[in-house]
Amino acid sequence: HHDIPPKVLELYKGIKMRDRYHLAKSITLVESIRKDHKIQSQQLLSLILDAQHENTKETGNFTSTFRIGLSGPPGVGKSTFIERFGMHILSQGHRVAVLAVDPSSVKTGGSILGDKTRMPELSRQDDAYVRPSASHGTLGGVARNTNEAMILCEAAGHDVCLVETVGVGQSETMVAEMVDMFVLMVPPAGGDEIQGLKKGIVEISDLIIVNKSDGIFANAAREAMTEYTSALKYLHPRTSFWSPQVIKVSAKTNSGLVEAWELMQDYYNIMKSSGELFKKRGEQRKLWMWRQITSELLDRLGSDKEIKNLVDKLEQKVFNGEMTSGVAADYVVDTFTHKYSITETN
Ligand code: GDP
Repeated sequence: HHDIPPKVLELYKGIKMRDRYHLAKSITLVESIRKDHKIQSQQLLSLILDAQHENTKETGNFTSTFRIGLSGPPGVGKSTFIERFGMHILSQGHRVAVLAVDPSSVKTGGSILGDKTRMPELSRQDDAYVRPSASHGTLGGVARNTNEAMILCEAAGHDVCLVETVGVGQSETMVAEMVDMFVLMVPPAGGDEIQGLKKGIVEISDLIIVNKSDGIFANAAREAMTEYTSALKYLHPRTSFWSPQVIKVSAKTNSGLVEAWELMQDYYNIMKSSGELFKKRGEQRKLWMWRQITSELLDRLGSDKEIKNLVDKLEQKVFNGEMTSGVAADYVVDTFTHKYSITETN
């Protein structure tokens, strides 16, 4: 690794030693939009990947980590649940990381998930790492950073990663595309409310958790569970190896947390031993590659002055109906590729 800068090597070593400070610094690095930071991020991630690849060759075990996405509307109890659930997983000998994709922070700089120190007890544990959502850039950018942050957390020995998001816009799809299992948390309500829930999000869920199954909500939680169970019957399962399940829990009283973790482990074991998990992760990496191609190309297009002038002119022509959008698009792409093929042969 003679061409790797000392700074990157130091971060890598720090991560391997499970040092919290180096992990935090590394996540900040992958979140940076500076060009030199981007290069260093890829160097760091490549070092990690190489080590994993070597390990897979030696042990034949391609992963021992479990990535879980958790989505649900604001107020459903996600952070209360993660705090308690995280403590339970720690007690089982795992090391937990909690990351977040917060779509609201992207647009407004504010936050649905909350800026307050969430999960105070879990955050204090040596074997846990809790990181709030990055609050700048596009949703796609934040999601990608989270994806890379997860890889860093895993390299630092966090074998269970929880990625939290709210069920708004595209955020839950993006989270579903970076995790092994997607969990939807719903309130103890049925009827119209369950019909109002976006069908798309139920469709991508491997597990539905009805929270607040306690006190005055206990009956409603039971009814919600029945309704979701029958709603799932009419959906086409995403994999033939697993039928999505519904479970009710109370993050307040801790009931159902042990069962929820058992169900998740069942899922993980089935997906792993069948080879489905290996395929899923591979497909996800391909998808992120294409995401990165698209966003990198758009970045480069946008930062080229000459192209920008051309785009401004063409946009006007398209706006006026003087040129078809397809012709304009071809023109831009042709000019761009032509320009860069000349630069390369120089
Ligand atoms: P989030 O926005 O999804 O992260 O929700 P929070 O974890 O902040 O919880 C929202 C509110 O619901 C808080 O007042 C919690 O105390 C309450 N809450 C969370 N879980 C439960 C539960 O299992 N039972 C009851 N009764 N209240 C809960």
